Amino acid sequence: MQGSVFISPQNLLTVNKKRSALSGILSMRCPRCREGTMFPENTLFTTKFMRMNERCACCGQSFMPEPGYYFGAMFVSYGLNAGFFIAVWIAMYVLMDEVSLTAMLIALLVIIFGLLPVTFRLSRVLWIYIFVRYEGPEACKDRQ
Ligand SMILES: [Zn+2]
Repeated sequence: MQGSVFISPQNLLTVNKKRSALSGILSMRCPRCREGTMFPENTLFTTKFMRMNERCACCGQSFMPEPGYYFGAMFVSYGLNAGFFIAVWIAMYVLMDEVSLTAMLIALLVIIFGLLPVTFRLSRVLWIYIFVRYEGPEACKDRQ
């Protein structure tokens, strides 16, 4: 039995509960435990899209560690918008016979304003994921 590792059902459950960083970012969850949500449910495409939960409901991680914390997220947002636009620009050149300046400007405005809630939230999530270390779902147990 050399090289085999025994995993108890309880350990297997714990292993399965851990989310990947990509899954945590895309579902906009707490960077510390990847369980609690960073934003209130069902507010993405409403006027309340800028609202943010104060703390993680699971582990208590503050989502606003200091005033002006998300200033740097502006640069992440810029990068996201540039990436989205380059992808759409390439798609337009591949799919359309002729790409006019007007079509490019319309695409740019649709990306900037149409995806504003997504880029706003995603840039904040990416920013906090840079600075807060992942501790796993065990971080929630310390609180309970
Ligand atoms: Zn948490």
